[in-house]
Amino acid sequence: MKKLFFTLFVMLPFMAVTSSAQILFDRGDVNGDGNADISDVVALVNIILNGGDAQLTCPDNHHPHMIDLGLPSGTKWACCNVGADKPEAYGGYYAWGETEVKTTYNWNTYNHYDGSSNTCHNIGRDIAGTQYDVAHVKWGGSWVMPSREQINELLNNCTHEWTTVNSVNGRKFTSKTNGGSIFLPAAGERGNSELSNAGGYGDYWSSTLYESYPGESDPRGAVDLYFYSGRVYWDRSCSSSRSVGHSVRPVR
Ligand SMILES: [Zn+2]
Repeated sequence: MKKLFFTLFVMLPFMAVTSSAQILFDRGDVNGDGNADISDVVALVNIILNGGDAQLTCPDNHHPHMIDLGLPSGTKWACCNVGADKPEAYGGYYAWGETEVKTTYNWNTYNHYDGSSNTCHNIGRDIAGTQYDVAHVKWGGSWVMPSREQINELLNNCTHEWTTVNSVNGRKFTSKTNGGSIFLPAAGERGNSELSNAGGYGDYWSSTLYESYPGESDPRGAVDLYFYSGRVYWDRSCSSSRSVGHSVRPVR
């Protein structure tokens, strides 16, 4: 009994302190380099004094940049796509949950297709930050694919217009609060071995599985942001087959 008291009343405060410290440590990776260390203190001071390393628009060729769109969650969007060397470049096309480009995009070549009954392997309902997140795998640190909620936030807090950057069609999203902006090129998509509708529409993956039918254990779709010159399709039910190659614009 004495030992139990010791455990409960002497150790408990220490256990509580330890777990708080762990939470602080986990959340201490301010600069997104994967480590919580002294450089994060510098990054934190920089954020307090200067608003951090985030920019209102892409400033130079040292991509990727964090763009501050004044979003309520503090989410910053990247200036360019995964695999792109400038904001208007299309970059790579990725099937949902895959982290490499390939020559043929269909169910037969899809890594997470189970091949039996038109269902897919379950790799999670939100793949952000996992081994299936191409933004996280390619760029590291705290870069991840945007969730459905983060794309929703982008649309709720930005105006957007169809425009052209260096002769490339796409849609520019401009913050309603701070004037920051990003450009998403209309990169089209890759189905089978064809690139289709490049310049015609943009189709960007979220990290979120599309659970079209409640109870369906391994859905075949994921939520995407789709736009062309006329409008943006985004009503929290826009989805695409996971096997199709789409663009990815990271956030952090
Ligand atoms: Zn940039």
